[in-house]
This record gives sequence, C-alpha cells and structure tokens, in this order.
Amino acid sequence: MFLRTEAVSPRRTGDVPKSFLGQPVTQATRYDVIVVGGGPVGAACARDLAEAGRRVLLLERGDAPGAGWRAAAGMLAAQVAGGEDDPLFEMGIAGRERLADLAPRLKASTGIDVGYWHPGIARIAMDEPDAAWLRSRVAWQRQQGHLCDWFDAGEVRARWPYVAPGFGALWSLRDAAVHPLKLVDALVADAARLGATVVQDRVLGLEKAGGKLIGVFGRESYAAEHVVLAAGAWARELTGLPRPIAVEPVRGQMAALAWPEGVPPAIIHGRGCYVVARDGEAVVGSTMEHAGYTAEPTEDGLKEVMAKIGMLWPQAVQEPRLRTWAGLRPVTPDGLPIIGAEPKLPGLWYALGHGRNGILLSAVTGQIITSLINGEKEVNHLERVRPERFWAW
Ligand SMILES: Cc1cc2nc3c(=O)[nH]c(=O)nc-3n(C[C@H](O)[C@H](O)[C@H](O)COP(=O)(O)OP(=O)(O)OC[C@H]3O[C@@H](n4cnc5c(N)ncnc54)[C@H](O)[C@@H]3O)c2cc1C
Repeated sequence: MFLRTEAVSPRRTGDVPKSFLGQPVTQATRYDVIVVGGGPVGAACARDLAEAGRRVLLLERGDAPGAGWRAAAGMLAAQVAGGEDDPLFEMGIAGRERLADLAPRLKASTGIDVGYWHPGIARIAMDEPDAAWLRSRVAWQRQQGHLCDWFDAGEVRARWPYVAPGFGALWSLRDAAVHPLKLVDALVADAARLGATVVQDRVLGLEKAGGKLIGVFGRESYAAEHVVLAAGAWARELTGLPRPIAVEPVRGQMAALAWPEGVPPAIIHGRGCYVVARDGEAVVGSTMEHAGYTAEPTEDGLKEVMAKIGMLWPQAVQEPRLRTWAGLRPVTPDGLPIIGAEPKLPGLWYALGHGRNGILLSAVTGQIITSLINGEKEVNHLERVRPERFWAW
C-alpha cells in the first residue's frame, strides 16, 4: 500500500510531518487546495486538481480499519439495475467510462495496473416478479440508447450453467470492475507525480480566522484557500464544521471463496448479492448494516451473505472460505452523494456520501470538484448531488 499506519499524535507536537515525496511540510507551506481523505474519492479529487495546476495537499490518516475502499468489490456496475428512478444512472455511466479511459493512462504514468476489466455484469432474475422488474429496466435503458440485453432462461443456462434459478437475466455488457486497492494507489501516485503533496496525518478539524476558512489541523496546521472534505464515513468527526454532516457509516461484509475450478471468471449479481472474480477468487457480498464504526465481520452477517449466494450459485458456497472482511460505506439520508460547496463557509467543498458506488463514481467526482473549484459554470451531473438539497440554510 502507498500509505502506512502511524500513530497520530496530538496537535502541534513540533514534529514536522513528511510528505511521501520527501519534502517537509511546514506551517509556512500554503496550498491552493487541501483534500482530506485519500480514499478513491479524495485521491481522484487530488489527482484532477493537481492535473489542473493547483497546489494540492492530500491528507490521509493511514491504515485505520473500516475505510470503504479497502473492503470494496470494485465493480463499476453502472447499468445492473439502472432505471428511470435511478438519479445516478447517467453519472454512473460517466464514472465507468472515465475509469475505462483513466486505467491505461494510470498504468503508463505510474506503472500501477488498476485491474480494469470489462466482462459485463449479469443480474440474474430470482423469480417471476424479479424478472418482470428487470425486463422493465432493460426496456428503459434501451429506450435511452444504452446497450443492455435481456437473456431468457435458456440463454442464461447456456452462458452461466452453474447459476441456479431459471427466470432470465439483465445483461449489462459494458459494466466492468477495477481492483479498488490498486486504483487508490494509482490515483495517489499519479496525484504525487502531478505535483500534489501526500502526507499521512489524521485531520482533526477545520482552521478558521475571523470566521473564514484558512485550512485544517491534525498533527500540524495546514493552510489553503480551499478544503475538500472526502473523509468518507468519518467526515462528520471533524471539529469546526459549520453544520452536522449527514453521512452515516453503513457496514458491508464480504468473503473470498476459492473460484470454482473450470468456471470462467465472471461478475454475477443476484437479488441483494454478487459474486466477483478477482485474482482467482470469488469475492462475495454483501450486507447493509447500521453498526456504527465497528468494521469487523460477524457470523450472522456472513451467514446472510452465504444464504443469498447459495440461492444464486449453490456450488460457490461449497468452496473453501479463504478470508472475510468488512468495511464502512459513507451513506447519506437520500442515498445520493453530497458534492459541492458548503453554502455557509466559502472554500469548504464536500465530496462525500458515495454509498455503494464510490469506486464507480470516484473519477467523475474528481472532475466535478475540479470544475467547481475552477469556477466553471456548467458542470455535469451536479443537479442531484448538490449539498443545498439538504442545506439551503
Ligand atoms: C463491502 C463493500 C463493497 C463495496 N463494493 C463497491 C463496488 O463494488 N463498487 C463501488 O463503486 N463501490 C463499492 N463500495 C462502496 C465504496 O467502497 C465507497 O463508496 C467508497 O469507498 C467511498 O469512497 P470515499 O473515498 O468517499 O470513502 P472511503 O473509501 O471510506 O475513504 C475515506 C478515506 O478517508 C480517510 N480518512 C477518514 N478520516 C480522515 C481524517 N480525519 N483525516 C485524514 N484522512 C481521513 C480514511 O482513512 C479513508 O482512506 C463498497 C463498499 C463496501 C463497504
């Protein structure tokens, strides 16, 4: 991993934090933008801002447990259940296509292969009502001009003979996946290559002077004109925020099973569960639980995952269980991200609350935040994610 664990000492101990590029960071160093949180969203913001010529400081607390990206399956599942009622549908497609474009460029610039893979994703219908619902999604997507197919039970049997039910499947052939850990490593490394300073420090709060935002503090104070808050489910813990942040941790539990022998790698969704082939394993998930900041898997949670997978792909659950883990998704009350300016405190920007889709939406969020900080008037995909939908006050 790019970042290492390090105990966080209290504010202003006199230690000068070292950037991962080696240059010391001092209180005198002034940045254009500080990004708080080096997960996929923060790393993508830091990368794009640095590419746009901004002096960027990316602050990441290190290997503390629970970060969403360390647990994620890494799917870019933009179309798997997309329909008229999905406000993130177009943004998801933009996110997937941006990562498709970025993956080879990250490989060339950093040497890190993010594992971009586009086998398509099947969402198997588990019963007749499920099939009717999925068929209506296919129809809607095709009306919008997107590639999406319906496979009847016979076609499903021919393509995925190991899958249990016989009710058909939505086939989203452009959907894809990345390796989330490698994606974050590559985004951080590319941000550094483009001039961003990357420091391991846990940000404790915002710094203000005369009511104006002047930076943040952790072990040290860091000064900047803009602060992008991308600290996932932990954003609300910072002091000095102008209002409580409506982002909750929602736990997801996962397991890796041996990939059944002789079965070609694939990504298959059932109702509330999925199997993703990764590095010769079957990554299976997941739960949606409000369990505070506890990021350990539980027997009950894993049982729930295995029961759903067992209905989708009975053979898979017979395979040896290799590992289990859990992570915390940052989730907002309406399930949509919060991206944009804080109305009350100029210079504070939110890139938060990506819920189940923060890998998919990471790179497009980097673009949005960069456009906003650059003062662009026309910014795509912003309408449904603006902070003002909660906070017009
Ligand atoms: C089990 C599971 C499966 C998932 N599968 C997928 C998937 O297949 N596809 C998909 O698109 N999404 C998936 N997600 C969701 C995705 O992981 C999240 O939406 C995404 O990680 C959110 O990104 P983020 O950068 O906002 O937050 P995080 O990934 O949580 O990262 C936040 C970062 O901020 C750092 N941080 C926190 N507080 C501070 C602080 N005070 N100072 C400095 N740094 C701080 C943390 O250490 C962390 O690195 C999954 C999530 C889970 C839990």
